[in-house]
Amino acid sequence: MPLEKQGTCLCGATTLRILIDEPQVSACHCSMCRKWTGGPLLCVHSDHAPTFEGRAPSVYDSSEWAQRGFCGQCGTHLYYRLTDKTSYAIPAGLFDGDEAWDFNLQIFVEQKPAWYCFANQTTELTGEQAFEQLG
Ligand SMILES: [Zn+2]
Ligand SMILES: [Zn+2]
Repeated sequence: MPLEKQGTCLCGATTLRILIDEPQVSACHCSMCRKWTGGPLLCVHSDHAPTFEGRAPSVYDSSEWAQRGFCGQCGTHLYYRLTDKTSYAIPAGLFDGDEAWDFNLQIFVEQKPAWYCFANQTTELTGEQAFEQLG
């Protein structure tokens, strides 16, 4: 059974609802995510499109294959999506309530700076491996 989760941006203008198949969190260490969020992007993956209530997200085309959505009023990051299929990464901090997320995957580990590391035991993939295995 997919889980329906809800989250809001910092200013409350936008509410996001999305179905999550697996309550799992992954971290992306790539330099773009770190610039976008200020640190590694901790996110929940979904193959379902979210619905939005309130203010429509602002959208930034961050590469030829992906877009990043954010609240145009408070700047909260709302999603990263692949444009050629329904594939979303939602920042885990967006969701209201305490889900027992399972942090089980780190990607772009070759771009992780040396000055931090997570103690969680997770699968670790390079960017190349992530593209191969996750599409
Ligand atoms: Zn906002
Ligand atoms: Zn990334």
